[in-house]
Amino acid sequence: QKLVIAIDGYSSCGKSTTAKAVAAALGYAYIDTGAMYRAVTLYLLENKIAFDDLPRIEQALHDMHITFKRNRRTGRNELCLDGQVREDEIRQMYISNNVSEVSVIPAVRHAMVRQQQRMGRKRGIVMDGRDIGTTVFPDAEVKVFMTADTHTRALRRQEELAEKGEQVELEAIIENLTKRDYIDSTRAESPLRRAADAVLLDTTHITIDEQVDFVLERVSA
Ligand code: C5P
Repeated sequence: QKLVIAIDGYSSCGKSTTAKAVAAALGYAYIDTGAMYRAVTLYLLENKIAFDDLPRIEQALHDMHITFKRNRRTGRNELCLDGQVREDEIRQMYISNNVSEVSVIPAVRHAMVRQQQRMGRKRGIVMDGRDIGTTVFPDAEVKVFMTADTHTRALRRQEELAEKGEQVELEAIIENLTKRDYIDSTRAESPLRRAADAVLLDTTHITIDEQVDFVLERVSA
């Protein structure tokens, strides 16, 4: 039987790395829902649509096409906006600095949640985000909620950005993570929180392999 696996938690705890590896081990699809909110943010910024201009945002949500395409060389799912791969742009700091403000907009959440539910209909899916176990798939068979110490998360994030050629001071990253977590967990619409039936996984002192095994053990249990 194919399952739905929901991985939620704070920014930069290793959710996507874990989710990707779990999906690969099980032969499941993997969806990074944060990438979708990042894509909406990129679209609004590029089209100079203000975050409080609801009519234009609704129109934008209708016009934009968010998809994932498998890169044959790396085997990774890449985010596409209107058919173009925008994976690098959506990971940049200027998107991280704006994405949480876009994610509080109810119309944005409704559109993303609906699309995510459609993507998961086939089951056999690992989805990571903030509200997967609470709102998108409240019936998911496996739910994990990830946390880690802020300093550790910031160091990991700094390394990731450096690999992509963006040098960012640790302080700026800590500020961004803290601010996003605050906005994400205090918003009115499906705030970031642990679902009552989600297992907590603190990744501060464990390796990626241990994180992956932790989730896989829950699948076989
Ligand atoms: O996972 P990632 O850090 O890329 O997510 C970027 C932002 O997208 C989060 O800080 C949050 O504001 C938003 N998000 C969300 N709901 C999700 C996934 C991400 O609101 N399911």
